[in-house]
Amino acid sequence: MNEKPQLRRVASSFATGVVVVTTMADDSPVGTTVNSFTTVSLDPALVLVCLQRGSRLLSAIEESGVFAATVLAAEQRWQAQWFANRTRLADATAFAGVATGRAPVTGCLVLGEGLAYFDCRVHELLPGGDHAIVLGEVAACGELGPGEPLLFSGGRYVGVDPGRHRAGSTAGSAAAGSAGVSSGSGLSTSATAAAVTTRRNGMTSTTQMTANTPNAIR
Ligand SMILES: Cc1cc2nc3c(=O)[nH]c(=O)nc-3n(C[C@H](O)[C@H](O)[C@H](O)COP(=O)(O)OP(=O)(O)OC[C@H]3O[C@@H](n4cnc5c(N)ncnc54)[C@H](O)[C@@H]3O)c2cc1C
Repeated sequence: MNEKPQLRRVASSFATGVVVVTTMADDSPVGTTVNSFTTVSLDPALVLVCLQRGSRLLSAIEESGVFAATVLAAEQRWQAQWFANRTRLADATAFAGVATGRAPVTGCLVLGEGLAYFDCRVHELLPGGDHAIVLGEVAACGELGPGEPLLFSGGRYVGVDPGRHRAGSTAGSAAAGSAGVSSGSGLSTSATAAAVTTRRNGMTSTTQMTANTPNAIR
């Protein structure tokens, strides 16, 4: 009996949040949607993600030794779908139209409209069958803004009124340059940057045209 479908189905009854994990590969940012994120230890501060062997993100993290995880808000559903889509380009253009800032220690990209971020150095890479367990030491973390989390359960995104715009991600505040990143978040963003606000799949997002954006990196 093939137990994989059964395991997938049963495992999907465990509801999770969703993060986008980013790192740098040859000076170009890469990012992937992940729901295996877990906090592990407070002292030392450790988190983990389980990444598929052979994936671009795992190879890039093995190379760079750093990663950042952005906890997604409910209205970032399209970003979760995009960063899980295998047809997306494997370079900075994957971040076009996505508000980003730099994590303060590693410089990995953080999605500005998220709820929170963890900025990590790889502590240990452990075998985990067809996945690798990436244990990260949290070098910095912070809240990005208020809002409801994006949840994943039963193989789909669920809850919490995902169509509702939260404060800080509306076109008006984004155009003012905040991009949903609250002050004191520790993120490196430019207050003087020009902000380009776009709507995609009904969602508003802002691209900061600064050295913090993939547009400027490439
Ligand atoms: C809600 C949600 C949660 C997720 N959580 C996790 C998680 O915790 N861990 C995790 O590893 N993934 C997770 N995924 C899946 C992950 O987001 C996608 O597989 C993503 O495309 C991986 O991107 P990548 O660039 O890292 O890997 P990719 O390079 O896209 O590789 C991913 C896998 O697909 C294979 N592959 C790549 N291109 C092709 C192709 N053209 N034809 C056939 N096979 C191909 C690779 O060999 C590898 O096994 C999640 C997806 C969703 C929607």
